[in-house]
Amino acid sequence: MLSQKLTDEFNEQINKEIFSEYLYLSMSAYAKTLNLDGAANWFMIQAQEERFHVMKFFNYINDRGGRVILKAIDAPQTEFSSLVAAFEYGLKHEGTVTARINHLMNIAQQENDHASKTFLHWFITEQVEEEASFEKVISKLKLGGSQALFLIDNEMGQRVFTPPAGA
Ligand code: MG
Repeated sequence: MLSQKLTDEFNEQINKEIFSEYLYLSMSAYAKTLNLDGAANWFMIQAQEERFHVMKFFNYINDRGGRVILKAIDAPQTEFSSLVAAFEYGLKHEGTVTARINHLMNIAQQENDHASKTFLHWFITEQVEEEASFEKVISKLKLGGSQALFLIDNEMGQRVFTPPAGA
């Protein structure tokens, strides 16, 4: 059985992952206003990944005999000064998520909860990939030029949702 402390922390993480989904949906809507359909698709797929993260925590709490409690979700930012600014905001956000996952792992270690450590290990690896994928797009966008943006937008349009590795 999951401790009350980890149950509370994991419920808080469900809220944060839903907020991530909400944020990337908001960024997808913003990209749509720029008529950048590829970027809009990229954020939409990112939002789907976040829902996948939500469900992993949801199912894990239930599997360990805990009670899932859903809370109110904060409103995401809706306006960004540019596409690259949206991606930079996203990268910063993922940094805070990484810090949260590390915090959860610290608690699981303190409690000697081996099942939770194994469960969180997947997220530790996933966060490395999340930050890298944002960084990659930002680097490409910073190459600059409208032709580069056109090509990158085309590339982002190819992204499809595949359940993350090891899921
Ligand atoms: Mg996430």
